[in-house]
Amino acid sequence: MRRISVFGATGSIGESTFDLMMRAGGPEAFHTVALTGGRNVTRLAEMARALRAGVAVTAHDDCLPALRDALEGSGIAAAAGSEALLEAADRPADWVMSAIVGAAGLAPGFRALRHGTTLALANKESLVTAGPLLMAEAARHGARILPVDSEHSAIFQALVGEDLAAVERIVLTASGGALRDWPLDKLAKATVAEALAHPNWSMGPRITIDSASMFNKALEVIETREYFGVAPEQIEVIIHPESIIHSMVGYRDGAIMAHLGAADMRHAIGYALNWPERGELPVARLDFAALGRLSFRAPDEARYPALRLAREVMAVRGQAGAAFNAAKEIALDHFIGGGVGFADMAGIVEDTLAALSRETGLGNAPMSLQEVLAADLRARALATGIASDLA
Ligand code: NDP
Ligand code: MG
Repeated sequence: MRRISVFGATGSIGESTFDLMMRAGGPEAFHTVALTGGRNVTRLAEMARALRAGVAVTAHDDCLPALRDALEGSGIAAAAGSEALLEAADRPADWVMSAIVGAAGLAPGFRALRHGTTLALANKESLVTAGPLLMAEAARHGARILPVDSEHSAIFQALVGEDLAAVERIVLTASGGALRDWPLDKLAKATVAEALAHPNWSMGPRITIDSASMFNKALEVIETREYFGVAPEQIEVIIHPESIIHSMVGYRDGAIMAHLGAADMRHAIGYALNWPERGELPVARLDFAALGRLSFRAPDEARYPALRLAREVMAVRGQAGAAFNAAKEIALDHFIGGGVGFADMAGIVEDTLAALSRETGLGNAPMSLQEVLAADLRARALATGIASDLA
């Protein structure tokens, strides 16, 4: 039986992963090594019982008593804290889902690679903050990283049997998020609830707001560059409101391979779970006659400064990805907390990058995970100061 661990099991990606595992037979089909979550320990314990996991880990020490209570009599071990997350990653597993949200997902996934595992990577922040380190670590240990972000899974699938050298362009599709049709002057005053109303995808709250600001797409452009190793100029972004085409690869003969499907993350999660085969998946089938048409438009950089910032980050590389992501996380915290406006987030990130660049120069490539985390911490401190001044 395949040994599986799921990091971030209680989140949106975690729930979809759990759903696919249960449909495939749950504990009869998989040996679940570890499940991790954050504050939702009731759900974590339910999942651990259903899959008969070896250990359930909450990221937060103060949640441990509640997790222990919820697991009482199950024989499942309970643990808490960041060290426990790393210990869970050290437990041998054949397939590990990395679906913690934010930079907090980097260290556990990185650790799992050491054991030569197949890492199903939803946590795009890992590649944005530490792409070169992560890819080198996987190569060093004969581990494999399978992309779970829908765009990157689409690209990965469009590349099967093809030569990367024949790739001319990669076209990332973007829904445009909840506010895509809002006039620019109204956009600045968007509330959290408005940014959370995603038209197509059902996702965790942070990535949903990042979709509306296009910070999500900005992270994905960098993720594409780091995972597939293509040049930044080869990566395009196109707004595709229907979210039917999940992304495309253009080859030097002008042919374009696209991945189409319903906007359901179980496409990408299931592909990674069944890889290198294809399994039956419980996703809706497309009815083209009912769809009628697919539409596209170019993203407006005045609306979406995040896309321009992603280009700047790719030009610098080094610590810029870690700083960009950390500043974005802080800006998002302040937007959610009500301290700054929707349109202020990009300014906070831009000012943080500029300040850090003056301080240390962003181009120094981190040689270790510790250096990535140090750049992340410094950017968080700077971004917090900038956001507090604004509020
Ligand atoms: P959610 O917010 O729904 O879930 C996040 C998970 O991480 C939960 O299990 C949560 O626990 C846990 N968690 C939160 N904070 C911490 C922390 N500090 N340390 C450890 N664990 C923590 O996120 P999503 O599922 O939407 O996203 C997960 C990742 O996948 C992100 O990197 C996102 O960008 C990426 N992704 C998501 C997509 C989607 O459709 N949702 C699509 C493509 C990529 P709890 O809830 O118990 O507190
Ligand atoms: Mg995506």
